[in-house]
Amino acid sequence: MPRGQAKVPSKIKRMSSTTSPDSAAVEHKPSNFLRQIIEQDLAKGTYATRKWGGSPGDAAHHAAGQSDPSKIRTRFPPEPNGYLHIGHAKSICLNFGLARDYGGVCHLRFDDTNPEKEDVEYVNSIRDAIKWLGFDWNGSPDAEPYQASDYFDFMYRAAEYLIEAGHAYVDEQSAEEIRINRGDFGKPGTDSPFRTRTPAQNLARFREMRAGAHEDGAMVLRAKIDMASPNINLRDPAIYRIRRATHHNTGDKWCIYPMYTFAHPIEDALEQITHSICTLEFEDQRPFYDWLLEHLIEGGLLASPPPRQYEFARLNLTYVITSKRKLAQLVYDHRVSGWDDPRMPTIVGLRRRGYTPEAMQLFAERIGVTKSDSWIDYSTLEGCLRETLDVSAPRAMAVLDPIKLVLSNWDELMGAGTLDACTAPLHPHVPEMGQREFKIGKELWIERGDFEETPPKGFFRLFPGNKVRLKYGHVIECTSCSKDADGKIIEVQALLVPDTKSGTPGANAVKVKGVITWVAAADALSAEVRLYDRLFTDAQPDAGGKDFLECLNPTSLKVVQAVVEPSLATAKPDDKFQFERLGYFVADRADHTSAKPVFNLAVGLRDGWGK
Ligand code: ATP
Ligand code: MG
Repeated sequence: MPRGQAKVPSKIKRMSSTTSPDSAAVEHKPSNFLRQIIEQDLAKGTYATRKWGGSPGDAAHHAAGQSDPSKIRTRFPPEPNGYLHIGHAKSICLNFGLARDYGGVCHLRFDDTNPEKEDVEYVNSIRDAIKWLGFDWNGSPDAEPYQASDYFDFMYRAAEYLIEAGHAYVDEQSAEEIRINRGDFGKPGTDSPFRTRTPAQNLARFREMRAGAHEDGAMVLRAKIDMASPNINLRDPAIYRIRRATHHNTGDKWCIYPMYTFAHPIEDALEQITHSICTLEFEDQRPFYDWLLEHLIEGGLLASPPPRQYEFARLNLTYVITSKRKLAQLVYDHRVSGWDDPRMPTIVGLRRRGYTPEAMQLFAERIGVTKSDSWIDYSTLEGCLRETLDVSAPRAMAVLDPIKLVLSNWDELMGAGTLDACTAPLHPHVPEMGQREFKIGKELWIERGDFEETPPKGFFRLFPGNKVRLKYGHVIECTSCSKDADGKIIEVQALLVPDTKSGTPGANAVKVKGVITWVAAADALSAEVRLYDRLFTDAQPDAGGKDFLECLNPTSLKVVQAVVEPSLATAKPDDKFQFERLGYFVADRADHTSAKPVFNLAVGLRDGWGK
């Protein structure tokens, strides 16, 4: 494990490391190809002479600065057009984690070069999500994130430089002509008739574009590279377009906006990023990334050495969709209650479901970083949550489908109306967490499923004539049950076996095969419990053009009125518990109050996924 790793209990640390037979006890981070690249760069001093002007800027700005105290700079560049999801969490843990582990800094940069889609609601949720995952950006806990739109002036200057140096031209072909003339994999492209204009002509045209002299879409600025390149991305890619749109940061200052493929390398370079890590679909863009930065360094506009782009496989998780557009559709079609619905794979959804930052970091580490696409089983994510909660969550008893149990000899043995005090550890393996207290009395609530009038083979819980232990309480012997007019069982009766109370001498003299959980009617609290299941019934809900709305799981949420033990009266929103025998639950962060408790099922006790 790295320096400065968030507080993860030691049991989890061991499980998260790769272990070989002779190093099982040694804690270390699973190796990944990006770590190797960074370690080689550090050893070679690739970035040792870099300077940092204290803020993003051009070559001159950084040249006037100090030697960069950050050994590496990575970045996380979300478009603020939706809520972050589990895939982004992987990227966040990777980029911020590498910066932390190698004495660097990770930049949070809002990639807001597209004027139409941004919203401050998304900006705030992204900031919250990263903080919650345990990271700070830009080198200090109260630094402001960077915004790509702050670099529009520089981008414009870079475009003019490329034009003057003969590396860009204004193309007046229609979008359709440009598309056709680009050729395809088997066929080289055809030069635009505008490709041979002089730099002076191009500059004049580009300035007209900027001044608003032309309609949206009338012309574009293109890099002049090679229309016959086997990489279609190098066949004179568009770098600026005319788009009359008000931008949330720059207002109506611009009617031309840079294309993403042009903007992104420049953003990285202005911020002195060393390792620019992105998902595999950008691999074919890398030659243009390098081409652009090389020319701008040549022109003295950007500092050297340039950032390098590295690609890794995006996260695909079974039963989950990770497209912001599709997640938005679930929200706007009211298929879920909102972005933070506990069934959503958004960071806010997972958080409300009971996920912890430790579980998310453990997951990111465990799945590692690879260069080939694959699917991660949802149970891997659940396993990480289970492991982190197992060591930290206090225990409690709850009954989700209550039926009354009456101890018929209670009054006679204990005295009418008597309640007897019971104690139990808050955590079976962490005695420091202390004890919880509750009562046992004549009337108890037990799970309906813990009683069978005619037991199937191998059933060891309550049936007439059988003895079980009430966990932390006494041994009881079942005698009978009562039914309503429809034949539904409404009450179970049993006898208390004297001198069997847990923790008292001789309590184990009576041997039983079953132990059941329960809550006394006298001190039970009622609570709403929301039982969540997977949102989709198909493991790859949107693969191969499938309509993900067709495989929504109709029973992904079941709400029950449960009874819970009195220690849960002090539960606060976000508090997590293990309900014994049932699973891990969290007090809902939106709806839970002490007057009206609401608990969400976070994850079951065992991996029941796909079984
Ligand atoms: P979407 O296509 O759903 O809008 P996106 O990739 O366009 O997602 P961005 O806001 O551009 O979303 O993403 C910010 C960063 O998160 C990018 O660097 C991207 O590589 C990374 N990222 C997004 N989705 C995943 C994923 N499933 N696995 C790993 N990284 C991801
Ligand atoms: Mg994107």
